[in-house]
Amino acid sequence: MKLFAIFGKPVAHSRSPLMHNYVFKKLDLDACYTRVALEDGSLLREKFFSLKLSGANITVPYKEDAFRACDEVVGFAKEIGVVNTIINQNGRLIGYNTDADGFVDAISEFKDVKNILLLGAGGTTKALALKLKLEGFDVEVLNRSASKLEYFTNLHINSYDYTSFKIKRYDLIVNTTSAGLSDESLPAPKEILETILKKSNYVCDVIYGHLTPFLKLANSYNIPYKDGSHMLLAQGVLASELFTNREFSKSIIHTIMSKSFEF
Ligand code: NDP
Repeated sequence: MKLFAIFGKPVAHSRSPLMHNYVFKKLDLDACYTRVALEDGSLLREKFFSLKLSGANITVPYKEDAFRACDEVVGFAKEIGVVNTIINQNGRLIGYNTDADGFVDAISEFKDVKNILLLGAGGTTKALALKLKLEGFDVEVLNRSASKLEYFTNLHINSYDYTSFKIKRYDLIVNTTSAGLSDESLPAPKEILETILKKSNYVCDVIYGHLTPFLKLANSYNIPYKDGSHMLLAQGVLASELFTNREFSKSIIHTIMSKSFEF
């Protein structure tokens, strides 16, 4: 039996085991997907091999550790230094990023979006910022800590902390922080959020499974919003394609995996 896992801290909330195990079951594959709560990201590679994994997903806060754990990183993940999917290819760990494509798919239903503000500056923000820039969007970044902004400045992406930020209008505002994941915090000071939300057309959160304080605030201003479920499904389909060695088409996996969201 092939074993797969998701690494993270926290990881108990993750729907990935449900999604991937459902696909394995429906495709009659001898494989199983579990959760691993990891305390130290530098131990990822060692843990991967000690569990004899065939592949893994990596969630908050270890996606940059995952990049470092790989022997080879492929495609877009190499440009951003952020890996969320690892495949064991004959003892070599090959890294990919499926989050960014998943997010672009998720926002495709929002019309006339050009200017996007990403709240956060972690692994997910890096992936989405570069992908959105490559897709032709005007992206800016607002983060709690100024120390994480250099990456974006180097990419010529305007980035701010709370003191340097100047209020302006955005078509779409996205929470890519972990604020609201397992606490009740907002991803930026309330005064800033209230002012920019009133001017925006759409709001998105990458967190899924519950209405975050950020989405509740957007809802109180009647702004159309979506949580991270669509992104989760889209990135999961791409990861599953890699886990099953591209034996099944994306559309078959998508049809099956989307049913796991009904439970
Ligand atoms: P990282 O740990 O790499 O980055 C976290 C970011 O959140 C940092 O910029 C940090 O700011 C900021 N942050 C954390 N807490 C707060 C707070 N209370 N107020 C303001 N900012 C805060 O995490 P990831 O990028 O890996 O993940 C971010 C989120 O994205 C997670 O909630 C994860 O579950 C979600 N996610 C969802 C996916 C989906 O498919 N739906 C896919 C990928 C991720 P600072 O720099 O100041 O520390």
